[in-house]
Amino acid sequence: MNTKIEGNSRQGRGMGRGRGRNGDGCCGFGGSLGQGMDREGAAQGYISAKMPGRSAHRQQHVADMRAQIAASPRTPLTTEEQEGLLLMREEEKIARDVYIQLYERWGIRPFGNISGSEQAHMDAVLALLEHFGLPDPARGLGVGQFRNPELQRLHDTLMEQGLRSPEEAVRVGLLIEELDIDDLRKAAERTNRETIRNVYGELERGSRNHLRAFYRWKTRLGVSYQPRHLTPEIFVATALSPHEACILPA
Ligand code: ZN
Ligand code: ZN
Repeated sequence: MNTKIEGNSRQGRGMGRGRGRNGDGCCGFGGSLGQGMDREGAAQGYISAKMPGRSAHRQQHVADMRAQIAASPRTPLTTEEQEGLLLMREEEKIARDVYIQLYERWGIRPFGNISGSEQAHMDAVLALLEHFGLPDPARGLGVGQFRNPELQRLHDTLMEQGLRSPEEAVRVGLLIEELDIDDLRKAAERTNRETIRNVYGELERGSRNHLRAFYRWKTRLGVSYQPRHLTPEIFVATALSPHEACILPA
């Protein structure tokens, strides 16, 4: 697997525009927390090994988020709030798992960088689940495994598509990011809690940056793409707007 990754990532250098200090993978805010991770640890180890430069920044970002979450009131969540968190935890896992596997297959750099960011997104949602005493739906599950059968099917369909060609893989990246943006917005609308909305807002900012990174590859490979979750106007406006830097100093 490594020969393929190295061969292709050399090609990927031209796409460095906008990756800057924090890169496509920021933010990020993740790396290796190691708490309550079980077999997740394997995926995290993989990610840290591939992206050592980013993990300190991500760790700091997750630590800050955790501190904010810990300081927020632990009053019971509504059913809608619970459902939102459970869905987002597994949806971020779909992104992470699909990107890990597509990076292994195609070596297209954003899949590698962004899988680390998705780990951080999973960590942030896990921190919320733990704070509010909810069970972790991703607990003990390896890469590509899901509790929710609908999400398992979505993962399997996306993998089947993404393994067909690099062009299809880029389409899968775009689709995951627009789905994520759409679902994060919907979940944020269903809660008034500042802590949860802040986390969703951070994840959405990350997703917009990911969408931009995949869009650059769409342009590079000349791939056509019809957005399915965002309107064409919002999709293009988001994809072509500038990278949003992380709130933390680099
Ligand atoms: Zn994400
Ligand atoms: Zn993403």
